[in-house]
Amino acid sequence: MHALRWPVVLFDLDGTVLDTVELIRASHEYALREVLGQAPSDAEIMAGIGTPLMEQMEKFSPENAEELFHTYRRWNHANTARLIRRYDGMEELLIELENEGARLGIVTSKMKDAVDLAWDALPSPIVWDVIITTEDTPVHKPHPAPVLKALERLDATPEQAVYIGDSPFDLQSANAAGCAAIGVTWGVFNRETLAAENPLAVVDTPAELLEVLAG
Ligand SMILES: [Mg+2]
Repeated sequence: MHALRWPVVLFDLDGTVLDTVELIRASHEYALREVLGQAPSDAEIMAGIGTPLMEQMEKFSPENAEELFHTYRRWNHANTARLIRRYDGMEELLIELENEGARLGIVTSKMKDAVDLAWDALPSPIVWDVIITTEDTPVHKPHPAPVLKALERLDATPEQAVYIGDSPFDLQSANAAGCAAIGVTWGVFNRETLAAENPLAVVDTPAELLEVLAG
């Protein structure tokens, strides 16, 4: 393989590195039914995925956000090991990037305990150089702060980095941070939604992603 186009490769976690899409959908459905007595459509549930959980709950119901948040997290944590999945080809991609000497990071809106739980269920095939969770910045995607925080920890510039994610919030965050943005279609959002954010590329498989990363 050729040298990598960017020495720093940052990934969103949910719907990008790990398939937590059904886990997240089912957690929302449970919490909304339990607290509000009914759940909105899957499309409404999924529209906010990729932003911090509390922000999503405040959109569903400001007065019940706190209870929704805790009900979601209880069910989500109890069911993570059962519902979390790998994406075909993702582990191979990460190992290849690590072997090529890339510095690798996660930038997620998830809280740290939920990230740790995910790795407990499906251990990471690589050692991450940086993991940014919702606790690390006062503001979150689509704001550039989480991506910039990862770059700061790595002592890297935006020009050296690419950020890869399955949501428009990921691509907005990358664009605002001044690094390259790549959308992936195997998570929550479709090609059209991702392409509207003007990413460098939108890819359908980890193999296709590797081709873009290798230039
Ligand atoms: Mg995501």
